[in-house]
Amino acid sequence: MPDLTPVTASSMAALIDQHAAALEAQVIAWRRDLHQHPELGNREFRTAGIVADHLRALGLDEVRTGVAHTGVVGLLKGALPGPVVALRADMDGLPVTEEVDLPFASKARGQWNGEEVGVMHACGHDCHVAILMGVAQVLAGLRGQLRGSVKFIFQPAEEMPPAGEDGGAKMMVAEGALEKPVPQAIFGLHVSSRQTVGTVGYRPGPTMASSDYMKITVHGSQTHGAAPWLGVDPIVTAAQVVLGLQTVVARGIDITEEPAVVSLGIIRGGVRENIIPESVEMRGTIRTFNEAMRDDIHERVTTLAESISRGSRAGCTVCITKNYPVTINDPALTEAMLPTLRRVVGSEGLRLAPKVTGSEDFSFFQRVVPGLFVFLGVSAPGVDAKKAAPNHSPRFRVDESGLLLGVRTLAHLSCDYLESQAR
Ligand SMILES: [Zn+2]
Ligand SMILES: [Zn+2]
Repeated sequence: MPDLTPVTASSMAALIDQHAAALEAQVIAWRRDLHQHPELGNREFRTAGIVADHLRALGLDEVRTGVAHTGVVGLLKGALPGPVVALRADMDGLPVTEEVDLPFASKARGQWNGEEVGVMHACGHDCHVAILMGVAQVLAGLRGQLRGSVKFIFQPAEEMPPAGEDGGAKMMVAEGALEKPVPQAIFGLHVSSRQTVGTVGYRPGPTMASSDYMKITVHGSQTHGAAPWLGVDPIVTAAQVVLGLQTVVARGIDITEEPAVVSLGIIRGGVRENIIPESVEMRGTIRTFNEAMRDDIHERVTTLAESISRGSRAGCTVCITKNYPVTINDPALTEAMLPTLRRVVGSEGLRLAPKVTGSEDFSFFQRVVPGLFVFLGVSAPGVDAKKAAPNHSPRFRVDESGLLLGVRTLAHLSCDYLESQAR
């Protein structure tokens, strides 16, 4: 990566603020329309169409569609020579039935893994799309002064594709979203109910956790509940495995280095009170902030579950699937962009964000190019953000007065970066 000294305001700074402010009502209108018409992962057909039409109408130099199913990648070449920076927004909604009383509340229904569900932008990806459409319009309007190029990445299925499908950031990378041209840096943001409007949270280094799926099956030997000695009881064994898993982090991990979480969300076994079943299945999630710790925990979970089962004469199958890597904000890039964040957000609004045990597939982009992912406050002033309905809740509510800061943040980050690297 090129040398990164703290960047200074681009020559376009004042114009960016003017153009962004003039676009605020439009960004809110886009967001409301997207909010009313949410689409599930890999099904963002309408959303992608709106995005692609908008980018074409702005006269972008390239607009690629159908990337990783419904993804859209636009390229805006500035009039002046310079490097390439990428900006990313995710587009998918969630299988959640909206409970917010709004004129543009979602009534959409969809199919999710074979079930009919309500669909809602309960994670605020509607805001991300509207903000990035706004940034594209601001920068396209200033392309005569723009140094270098900006790549706009609109990504499907951040919340995981439907079962049996590929998708999301990993697939966009595989399909060349970060090639031709290769960006030198990537920026992204996520709206947060945990922060009030007017605030931006940032964190250098590990920021959001890796997220891995675990499935443990204990294989016993089915018998009558009245005669357990005639079989092998997978329920009692599973109970010991559940308790054993609590020691993986508590007794095995240096928590002064990084935190980690091992949680089970499903335990299933048996059909009748007087039958000891053949097997018990458990499913859960593993969250870490360090790739070495991630592998270590996987190994510990596997060994522990297998050993406990062996001690009970039961069999055990452990299957752990790596989903999203740790979201790591490049420390040098974060440091270099801090003056921009301070200037755009103001020192009262800018804060060092705590680590988040949620995960983000923005991490797949950061594996390829240095990236910075920040959190944008969308809780209404006067509401205790700690008590606000969180992202993914059917009552998740966005105060739209926070969106303009999102447009300004991404526009200034990209222009300041491009000018500093072109020098
Ligand atoms: Zn989410
Ligand atoms: Zn999200």
